Amino acid sequence: MGNRIGFIGLGIMGQPMALRLIEAGHELAVFNRTPEKAKPLEAAGARVAATPADAAHDADFVISIVSDSAAMEEVALGKQGALETIRKGAIFIDSSTISPTVSRRLACHAAGKGASFLDAPVTGSKHGAEKGELTFMIGGDREAFDRGLPLLRTLGKKHIYCGAHGAGLSAKLAQNTIQSTMVEIFCEGFVLAAKAGVRPETMFEIIQSSMARAALTDFKAPFIFKGDFTPYFPLKWMHKDLTLAMEAAYAQGVPMPAAAAVKEVYAAAKAQGKGDLDYAAVVTFLEELAKVRVRTTEAAAEG
Ligand code: NAP
Repeated sequence: MGNRIGFIGLGIMGQPMALRLIEAGHELAVFNRTPEKAKPLEAAGARVAATPADAAHDADFVISIVSDSAAMEEVALGKQGALETIRKGAIFIDSSTISPTVSRRLACHAAGKGASFLDAPVTGSKHGAEKGELTFMIGGDREAFDRGLPLLRTLGKKHIYCGAHGAGLSAKLAQNTIQSTMVEIFCEGFVLAAKAGVRPETMFEIIQSSMARAALTDFKAPFIFKGDFTPYFPLKWMHKDLTLAMEAAYAQGVPMPAAAAVKEVYAAAKAQGKGDLDYAAVVTFLEELAKVRVRTTEAAAEG
């Protein structure tokens, strides 16, 4: 039998996630700050809620995926926020990548209402959300994790319990630190090779035959070589996650020298107005500094 779900945030990730839940037979009340984005979900059978509180009031589960900590505080704790109306016994699953500290505070508010709260950030990007192949990193009570798992199986292929409240987010920030740095350093290497006259396709063949080969750059390279930066994961959100990772590093006394430098590269690209492009657009910032482009002959011929 389907669950009643209040779903908050219909952006790049939220749209396909909400759609999958409807298709799996759940009853959805959806809220998005910009109401137009709820139209496709309404057409698929969802009720459009006027506020987060309206989406949450009769839900067994509330699922949210909004941009950042401020957005999450607004939809959860703000005027007509979801925590105003959440039912006793309900589970609030937040898949936004936000500050673990803010998330723990939201968990306390939920507990005050007799509801459970899980931080459940994801990896897998837009295509993972569309195919139900996300990986979830989850923090909170084990009992709430076990109760939420059957529902989350509609959205993901892997659900990893990380520990107490905030642990899922701590894991997510570590993962995106690694991911952002891998893409940035891949781009630096390719810019260096291109400046010396080594073509990207030649360099790629070398990487594919070496230990530096990685699933992430297998996926991103064709987009970089074409200069196609349609956002799967916007650069501004990668910068946000590196900033959150640095805050966590400072709070815990963990030195992260390479990540600190990489964060500034994303900051510079964002300051140039590239925040809404995919984070692989970080290559264009490096290209502009070196005055060279990393495009394959095939992509250059296509123009
Ligand atoms: P997005 O397309 O920019 O969507 C952001 C959502 O947050 C929209 O629904 C937006 O509403 C809402 N929002 C922003 N500020 C708000 C506010 N003050 N009050 C209410 N709603 C607000 O972003 P996304 O790519 O779906 O990412 C969402 C979250 O998932 C982020 O934390 C991101 O880091 C994380 N994430 C993304 C990916 C990915 O590949 N895209 C992968 C893993 C994790 P409007 O429509 O009104 O702007």
